[in-house]
This record gives sequence, C-alpha cells and structure tokens, in this order.
Amino acid sequence: AKAEGRNNYRFFLPSMHERVKERKTIEEDLRNALEYDQLELYYQPKIDCRTERVVGAEALVRWHHPDRGLILPGEFISVAEECGLINRLGAWVMNKACQQTQIWRETTLPGLRIAVNLSPAQFQDAELVRSVTKIMDQTRLPDGTLELEITESILMNNPEKAVSTLNELKALGVRIAIDDFGTGYSSLNYLKRFPVSSIKIDRSFVNDIHVDMDDKAIVDAVIGLGHSLNLEVVAEGVEEVEQHEYLRDKGCDFIQGFLFAKPLPAATFESWVLERHG
Ligand code: C2E
Ligand code: CA
Ligand code: CA
Ligand code: CA
Repeated sequence: AKAEGRNNYRFFLPSMHERVKERKTIEEDLRNALEYDQLELYYQPKIDCRTERVVGAEALVRWHHPDRGLILPGEFISVAEECGLINRLGAWVMNKACQQTQIWRETTLPGLRIAVNLSPAQFQDAELVRSVTKIMDQTRLPDGTLELEITESILMNNPEKAVSTLNELKALGVRIAIDDFGTGYSSLNYLKRFPVSSIKIDRSFVNDIHVDMDDKAIVDAVIGLGHSLNLEVVAEGVEEVEQHEYLRDKGCDFIQGFLFAKPLPAATFESWVLERHG
C-alpha cells in the first residue's frame, strides 16, 4: 500500500503541474487566436426530420492553432470561460455566424436559420442584449432566424434575471433553444416559465434509441412534453438510419448528426446544401 501511495504521489504532482501549465499556454495562445484571426466557424446542417430538407445550421467554433493544428471547442471553451475571454470569443462567433447567414440568405440559401451556442458567462454578461441588438440591426435577420442555444444550468442560477434577459432577446426576434436537454438538474417546470422555443434532446439519449428501452421511453416523453408545450423538438447526434426512422415515427421535428453531415467549413456547407437540394 505504501509503494502504491508513493506511486500515486509521484504521478499526481507532475500531472497537476502539467495541466496548469498547459492551461496557461492555451490561455496565452487563445488571446493570440482572437487577435490574429485563428478562429473559424464550422456549420452543421439541421434537417427536417420528415422531409429531410436542410432548414438551418448550428455554428460550431474551431481553432487553427499555428503549431497544434485544428483544435476542437472541448479543449478551449472552458479555458476561455475561466480566463474571461469567453465574451470576446462569443461576440466574435455571434457576429461571424449572423454575417455569414445574412450573406447566404441573400444569395444561395434563402430561408436559412442559424443557431449559436451561448456559454453561461455570456448569458450573464450585461452587454449581451446590447450586442445582440446591434447585430440584429446590422444584419437585419428576420424574426426567428437567429436561435441561441443555452443549457439548463443558465436558467437555474438566477431565474428572475434569466426570464427578463430571455424576454429581451425574444423581443429582438431571437429564439431560444435548451441544449443538452435532459442532462441538467433542473425541474421541467421552467419550460413553462421561460420563453423557450425549442429543446434539443441530448446525444446521450439518442445513441441507443433503437436498442435501449429506457432511452426510447425518455425520448418519447421528451417529444411528447415538448409538443404539448408547443416547442420544437430537435435531436442531436443522429448517426444511424434506425435512429432517424425512430425519431421521425415519433414526430421529432428536426435532427442533426453525422448520418447527414459533420460540422463543415462555410464553403463546404454551402455546396453540400446546394448539391443535396439540387
Ligand atoms: P454541443 O452544442 O452539444 O454541439 C454538438 C457537438 O456534437 C459538436 O461538437 C458536434 O460536432 C458534435 N456532433 C454533432 N453530430 C454528432 C454525431 O452524430 N455524433 C457525435 N458523436 N457527435 C456529433 P463540437 O463542435 O466539438 O462542440 C462541442 C461543444 O463545444 C458544443 O456542444 C458546445 O457546447 C461547445 N461549443 C462549440 N462551439 C461553441 C461556441 O461557439 N460557443 C460556445 N459557448 N460553445 C461552443
Ligand atoms: Ca449546441
Ligand atoms: Ca449537446
Ligand atoms: Ca454541450
């Protein structure tokens, strides 16, 4: 037991140290990323479950690191949140996504909707409503075109404040989606109280939907609940034909997943949609 303890100790220290060091490095590099234009948005199609037509896209950020190549948001969003860079990063994402969508709507992809992820710190930022107002003024996206995806935890921290922020966003024509639905701790009660327009069933429930009875039951219940509250229901992480068929038969409205497409760079997304709809 003693040897084991010593081993743990020996391995624990350097790895903690490494992690802290790595975070510091990412943080410094991330400042440069914003400065030197190393971020890029990828777009994953959102598909009508029944007609299989593309109705919109979710913008997902990528980082082209000069030494490390392409980095996924799982590696840097939480660092951006901790070091206070998330508001700048989030503002960049929102601007870019809305400008791109405006261009697409005026040229090759009329009617396209866009979803943007919002982190909790952004939602709490006093500047959020003002900056969304500015973007909506500049891009003149019609009501219902921009959707912000938030997680359940955002609503629970300060429910009164959350309601008023959501109402201000709604007044700007922005729709709100609850992301990763079902994975949070909150009660279902908030769906009634908050001005939300759609829920996204988390990937973890969709994974085994065609084989696991519990996941089936959960997904059935979420679709029923969503529809009885007049919400659009989106399923994410659809990888198999059987999952698509199950969701379609249960009346799910929209789906996203590798079955159709991974998140794609803007130009690739555009040609993918055009080719698909020929
Ligand atoms: P999310 O919002 O739940 O986004 C869905 C994630 O699942 C994306 O990962 C997407 O590439 C992946 N995905 C989509 N379809 C499938 C599928 O069929 N199978 C599997 N296995 N995965 C699928 P990504 O792009 O790495 O993003 C991870 C998370 O990072 C996002 O989860 C979101 O929470 C966060 N994120 C991404 N972009 C932004 C951003 O601009 N701002 C903020 N605040 N967060 C972002
Ligand atoms: Ca999302
Ligand atoms: Ca998710
Ligand atoms: Ca997520």
